Amino acid sequence: MFSKILIANRGEIALRIMRACKELGISTVAIHSTADSDAMHVKLADESVCVGPPAAAESYLNIPQILAACEITGADAVHPGYGFLSENARFAEILQAHGVAFIGPTAEHISVMGDKIEAKKTAERLGIPVVPGSDGAVLNDNDGRRIAREIGYPVLVKAAAGGGGRGMKVARSADEIDDALATARAEALAAFGNDALYIEKYLGEPRHIEVQVLGDGKGGAIHLGERDCSLQRRHQKIWEEAPSPALNAQQRARIGDVVVKAMQGLGYAGAGTVEFLYENGEFYFIEMNTRLQVEHPVTEMVTGIDLVNEQIRIASGSPLTFAQEDITLEGCAIECRINAENPRTFMPSPGKISYYHPPGGLGVRVDSGVYQGYVIPPYYDSLIGKLIVHGRSRVETMMRLRRCLDEFVVDGIQTTIPLFRELVDNQDIANGMYSIRWLEDFLATA
Ligand code: ADP
Repeated sequence: MFSKILIANRGEIALRIMRACKELGISTVAIHSTADSDAMHVKLADESVCVGPPAAAESYLNIPQILAACEITGADAVHPGYGFLSENARFAEILQAHGVAFIGPTAEHISVMGDKIEAKKTAERLGIPVVPGSDGAVLNDNDGRRIAREIGYPVLVKAAAGGGGRGMKVARSADEIDDALATARAEALAAFGNDALYIEKYLGEPRHIEVQVLGDGKGGAIHLGERDCSLQRRHQKIWEEAPSPALNAQQRARIGDVVVKAMQGLGYAGAGTVEFLYENGEFYFIEMNTRLQVEHPVTEMVTGIDLVNEQIRIASGSPLTFAQEDITLEGCAIECRINAENPRTFMPSPGKISYYHPPGGLGVRVDSGVYQGYVIPPYYDSLIGKLIVHGRSRVETMMRLRRCLDEFVVDGIQTTIPLFRELVDNQDIANGMYSIRWLEDFLATA
């Protein structure tokens, strides 16, 4: 087992990882930018190292500085959290070359799944159903037009290096394909420095359902059920729940089995998420994330399993703690992403939190990195915390969530809490009847 873990992240996820380390008796090292000296993750860590100025490119993404921090502190492993360097294969490789363990899968698996064209090909080879679409990258505009015609409109042009919903454009007819290709290409180049594109059938009203997996890197793998992340704005999740209100036990077992077989075939190590669109009873693979997800707590609440603890054990060479038959799903869990944003325009709202009172009680978990008096810096993601609620049934969970949202006070800045108060009272949400389009429609008409 590791003796000291450096956490190459900030905010709520850095705290989340520290908690798992502490429970395992492992010392923790925080890194931070000059803008984050007063951040909670720095206060809670056993040691901390400043790695650079506010801009993430010069601090949280600064590989030489992070490596130096490992050396200075004697950390024997790095947990990357999500975002930042979590899906950077080169980072994983460099750490290994310096004798520091990367808590995540192999560099090879990160890079295969990081290229969405390669990921789709790999998924198909491993027996996972994929969204119908181009066989590899689009060569040029002519090729793009031909592929779109063959797939049949509407189609979605996507960036091979895509992430966070960027570099994605819909073409509803042949009139729109040239624009979609040009815009997606420009966006992909600007955001990822890679303009490779592919094309998929654009599904109308699917749900986003993702399967959580754990692999031991030696051909052993299990799944921990699914999360439904259909409530999205601009392809970004804001509300996630487990289990999905749309699946029954047979459907869950069927997709879980497909994913587990694929991960066994791959020899996958660590935690991963295989993402699907689900429409008319069929699953279609869209991508795999080779890291811990923001929404992992809903899975923890229904399984009782600490995913970060498992990640750390697997990276240190331990076998999986659980067999598939040990995994049981209890009740229902819902997560709301609390962002420092205007709840209607979604404009970021950084600044000082003048008063802070999180909810509590049975079945309530708040993963957050903020405190009263904390000043949210303007440089990073606007996620300031997550409210996760667990109940014996979905009805009980919704009642509890409503109560928690009433209790939750964050003064001095704007947050997305008022939006969740509306959602928890909505009949479609209460019925679990929503697709990936629902929230955008709701926001357009509300
Ligand atoms: P990213 O890596 O940018 O998050 P994904 O491929 O995971 O991109 O897709 C993000 C979201 O975009 C999905 O959850 C879904 O809402 C939408 N999406 C992706 N592919 C399709 C598709 N073929 N048809 C309809 N919607 C899609």
